[in-house]
Amino acid sequence: MEVALPSVAFQTLGCKLNRCETETIAAAFTKAGFSITEDTREACLLVVNTCSVTSKAEQKVRGTIRAALRRNPVCPVIVTGCYAETDRAGLEALDSAGGEGGRLFVVPGSQKSRIMDLPAALAGEGIRDMAALRAAISRICRADGGGSAADVFRFAAGAPALRSRTFLKIQDGCDNSCAYCLVHIARGAARSLPRETVLERLRTAESGGAAEAVLTGVNISRWNGAANGGLPELLRALVSGTKEVGIRLSSLEPDVFTEDFFAVIQNPRIRPHFHISIQSGSAEILERMGRFYEPESVLGAIRRLRELKDDPFIACDMITGFPGETEKHFSETYAFCEAAAFSQIHPFPFSRRRGTAAWDYKPRIPEREAEKRVSILKNYSISSRKRYIERWIGRDVGGICISLPARGAGAAGFVEILTDNYLRIRAQLPCDSRFLPQKGRRLGCRITAHAEDGHDGGRAPSFDACGKIIGGLC
Ligand code: SF4
Repeated sequence: MEVALPSVAFQTLGCKLNRCETETIAAAFTKAGFSITEDTREACLLVVNTCSVTSKAEQKVRGTIRAALRRNPVCPVIVTGCYAETDRAGLEALDSAGGEGGRLFVVPGSQKSRIMDLPAALAGEGIRDMAALRAAISRICRADGGGSAADVFRFAAGAPALRSRTFLKIQDGCDNSCAYCLVHIARGAARSLPRETVLERLRTAESGGAAEAVLTGVNISRWNGAANGGLPELLRALVSGTKEVGIRLSSLEPDVFTEDFFAVIQNPRIRPHFHISIQSGSAEILERMGRFYEPESVLGAIRRLRELKDDPFIACDMITGFPGETEKHFSETYAFCEAAAFSQIHPFPFSRRRGTAAWDYKPRIPEREAEKRVSILKNYSISSRKRYIERWIGRDVGGICISLPARGAGAAGFVEILTDNYLRIRAQLPCDSRFLPQKGRRLGCRITAHAEDGHDGGRAPSFDACGKIIGGLC
């Protein structure tokens, strides 16, 4: 069958780092003349970037792959990412046809960057049919297949292919070994992109029109192993080495909160949004998890963040049902969340991972109990987030236009804005056409009401608040 070159589809599961990597691979395909499609049924090639942070995440990956193989009976499926690193054989077994006739190509996460060689090679070879396409994929993605050496930092920021904001990968891997975590096994030892290269890539993104870059990695708090001033020093160099591009930090570990960090984040170009990987509010459970801080020190850091930034958006990750977590431990976590008054809590039930220290830990907490504790934290998070949004009603904020009104929407059309303090705002189009926003561009808006007020759809709104576009930036 003649293979039309154009269409490639991508499915990304997991973290911002995975999204950043998929985005760069997609940009390479676009550059080589392929088109990107969201519809896996019409794609001539599908790339699935996987996650293995929990058993639920892995279940979702397997479901995604099976559905893809079923919905599109011909196109090859490249599977990469953390799950492809931790269980290659298990994923290959999903393709009943397997071997020569197989359509599933599993590329371990550590080899993911090899996929970047595929677009140009496929375009250059002028693929004649599916068999040739499969052969080319197999050859290029195989470690000894002549493609360039795997380089975890080949994923450079650029003009966003799939999104209105840019991700900038600055770090990979982790040297910690928290008892529940498979990530440091899937992603390997910590490695950092040199400061000069990070700066060069941010400058490229800024000159390409990016108004904001999200610094991402597995553990960006340990960029450069904290040597040479670590992340604070990098942030200083990025702010002084670029003009106005905004910098948003992805997930942080609590050991990042040093005086140097507090000094540099006062710069207004560093977004007032901090997502902290805390995992428990109980000192005893943190110790069992092999974490490296006390709840009190985190509360102190949160107080500092609020002194230095104007009511920043502070979110956290929490694990419930870690082996040995009693009702008392959980109530310590709940009290900790109340004391911290988070803008949002992301709770997850403990997931037993083979290969981690906690795999053998006892006593285990029944899944339904862990889930019950997750829903208690989720309910608290909903009210805490609402209180945070209400504090901002009537105030002006800066943000990025992340979506424009649908064609023909007319007066009903609205612009969606992601604010510096991480709120999703729906704003009516300004009647003054001079202020018509562009996607990915920065603009100012006044928050006017909580999303629920005046949102009569009954379903939970997919945005946080309503707003009004105000002329200049605030
Ligand atoms: S800090 Fe701990 S939880 Fe985070 S990636 Fe490293 S080992 Fe995993």
